[in-house]
Amino acid sequence: MKIAFIGLGNMGGPMALNLHKAGHEVQAFDLSKPACDKLAAEGVAIAASATAAVQGAEAIITMLPASHHVEALFLGSNGQSGLLAHIAKGTLVIDSSTIAAATSQKVAQAAQAQGVDFIDAPVSGGTGGAIAGTLTFMVGGAAAALERARPLLEKMGASIFHAGAVGAGQTAKICNNMLLGILMVGTSEAIALGMANGLDPKVLSEIMRRSSGGNWALEKYNPFPGVHENAPASKGYAGGFGTDLMLKDLGLAQENAIATKSSTPLGGLARAIYAAHSMAGHGGEDFSSVIKMVQKG
Ligand code: NAD
Repeated sequence: MKIAFIGLGNMGGPMALNLHKAGHEVQAFDLSKPACDKLAAEGVAIAASATAAVQGAEAIITMLPASHHVEALFLGSNGQSGLLAHIAKGTLVIDSSTIAAATSQKVAQAAQAQGVDFIDAPVSGGTGGAIAGTLTFMVGGAAAALERARPLLEKMGASIFHAGAVGAGQTAKICNNMLLGILMVGTSEAIALGMANGLDPKVLSEIMRRSSGGNWALEKYNPFPGVHENAPASKGYAGGFGTDLMLKDLGLAQENAIATKSSTPLGGLARAIYAAHSMAGHGGEDFSSVIKMVQKG
């Protein structure tokens, strides 16, 4: 299948590579030259622009940071027309970025008016899952559009859930990430408390992993350096899932909570903690660096 892949960052890069390795004809594009160069070195074709990437593509996948990037790309900005004007009728668009459900719905409506299928398909599983092709996809959109997308999603992920209509994938994703943000702070606090009492963070992590406090951070993504060799904590908190991206997701969760009059006190507190962590200069580091907020010294 001829696929345009736009957004080749920490997640999009390995996802595009998995489609390439599966034998699809991928035309990739990113505004960042280093991101393009990394994929070009793996043999993936790089397009000169997003518009060039979508020429002749049967499916388009986007993996961009936030709502405004997705809206500007597809619908245009500053008087310039968006990518939708260049997409052929019948094309399938899969947006895997984590963005506001309302933005997914706005873009989907414009796409539908042009005879283009659109699904929101945000992911969970981190960069490790993106590299291994074991991501979880949370899909919002028509069942028929999901079935068109399924063979591609299966090359990048291990679990595919149909959450509901367009935007439902995004709602599921922000519920998940609100929980992830909270549990990373809680895990960090527990490790820091143990260390303040002289416990070895590796030993304590293993005890909690096998006990009732066990969670995803303790399984695969320990915030303390050296516990998990491949976790960002062991690589100077480089790569992974940026603090500012977590802050964005917790903001989306709070906006949603306000709109639906939901009570999310820990989600609100977690957002404040990541905001302070970002302001202290850690916005570009992996979100597990939030342990620095609670660790002595
Ligand atoms: P990233 O910042 O590493 O990559 C985003 C890429 O998009 C960058 O390379 C940037 O240059 C590119 N980009 C921005 N605007 C563009 C445009 N108009 N055209 C082409 N390229 C453009 O971010 P990431 O970590 O890959 O995350 C991407 C999305 O996935 C975010 O919405 C994030 O919340 C979500 N997500 C990330 C993770 C993770 O662990 N990193 C996990 C699940 C979901």
